[in-house]
Amino acid sequence: MLIAIKSSDDAGMQIWYGNKHILAEPCDGAMLNGTVCTRSGAFPRSEVVGLNFSVSRQISGQQAAHRTPKMDMDRHAPGNCIYCGQPGPFSDEHVICAGLGADDPRWLLQGCVCSCCNTRVFSKLETKLLRSSPIAVARLFAQPLSRRRSGKTNAPTVQPRVSYFTEPGTGLQLEADLVSGGALTVLPQVLMLLPDQAAVRARDFASAEAFVTLLQNALGDAVNLIRKQHDGFEVIFCVTPLHWEDGMYVIGEATIERRPLEKGVWIEPLTLPSTAVKTDLLPPRIFQRHSGQLVCRIDGIDLAASLMSVLRVNPICLTPPAFPGTSAGELQPVVQQRYAFNRRSFERVLTKIGLNLIAHLLGIGLIRDSAFDAAVAFARFDTGSVCKYSIDRVADVAGALGRPLIDRHLFMLVRAPAQNGSSAIICVIQLYNTAAEFIKLAEMPNTVDVLERPIVILVDYMENVIKTLTLEEHMEACVN
Ligand SMILES: [Zn+2]
Repeated sequence: MLIAIKSSDDAGMQIWYGNKHILAEPCDGAMLNGTVCTRSGAFPRSEVVGLNFSVSRQISGQQAAHRTPKMDMDRHAPGNCIYCGQPGPFSDEHVICAGLGADDPRWLLQGCVCSCCNTRVFSKLETKLLRSSPIAVARLFAQPLSRRRSGKTNAPTVQPRVSYFTEPGTGLQLEADLVSGGALTVLPQVLMLLPDQAAVRARDFASAEAFVTLLQNALGDAVNLIRKQHDGFEVIFCVTPLHWEDGMYVIGEATIERRPLEKGVWIEPLTLPSTAVKTDLLPPRIFQRHSGQLVCRIDGIDLAASLMSVLRVNPICLTPPAFPGTSAGELQPVVQQRYAFNRRSFERVLTKIGLNLIAHLLGIGLIRDSAFDAAVAFARFDTGSVCKYSIDRVADVAGALGRPLIDRHLFMLVRAPAQNGSSAIICVIQLYNTAAEFIKLAEMPNTVDVLERPIVILVDYMENVIKTLTLEEHMEACVN
């Protein structure tokens, strides 16, 4: 399977699945473009996933200031948090995110990362990496289980903004989830094809029936329509009540709530993906998310009220067999997804992993060195940036990565000559066999005796086992 990424003018990322759309141009040389090894059987046919995304809008100076508390405690002092300098309390920090299949109990930082950095900052960043980034899609296809030791072990999931499956023959864009191994699940939904014609789609007849019953119960005398909005950094909920009066829904006055209502129908926009072709159709619809939420995808509250009025006065009759088969073997599925992807968050997590690796393998004392301050500030406080190398600038290092590995993430800590008699400490990160990222964590004088030889770290994400190798051992393993 090929994972390819192309930049888009829209903020967000789009994915093609199937042979219909193939995008293979890398974006600015910094994005992923390579092969991903899946488990045989999980993905029986040779498929192509194309990713299309762009960086989220840059944050303005004012917002940046809001987000960047000063590093006023001393992270250089022994005993304090290596990221923010707080004297504790501390919690165990996975050197490499557990969700990447790196839940190896020998690879924890203990007593040096505070619980605030761990849970309030890094966990949130990791969730974005795991569920809403190009890596998220590779993870969905390649990694069967999220992590090993937690009470319940779940398969990885993704959080796209929208996810459509093109129904063969009709071109209808159906709400559908991509799940573990790249399998497809069509969500239960009713589509308004014409003012007087609706169509129901679901995974099977039983789920269609259950959905129709749920929808009829939800369309009572009073219905709340909920729209999620942003107020600065805060998420607020605009609630519009509908009342049944004289055979139709009448729109009441909207209110703003800080928390979402338990019951109601969520309103989301109806936008044809920019990857759509002429025959793709996106009629208004009501569907049920995997989590149970009812969502009406339509342009505007007025239209939502009319659609619900029509559905309430015209009960849906189901006549089997009205559903297309969704057996992956018979169809050439095309899935279009769109993600909100923040490139900066992505790079902050990778930088944090690099810093953790230094701390774990080369010592807590070293990571407290002020040479790492800029990388720490970027990862923890979202200030400044880190230097990333393009692949042609580090061709020697890239060449040392060897051939693609099955079921392994590859990391490498390496020292390379920099300007003015100093050395760059670089972390190479290659997740799910996608293109490697090269991040400079620090620059140190040549006289400092550190990282004389590269260290290769391999993560077996099927077994949650991490091991280190010398570069020679790694190269030898690649040849054999
Ligand atoms: Zn901290």
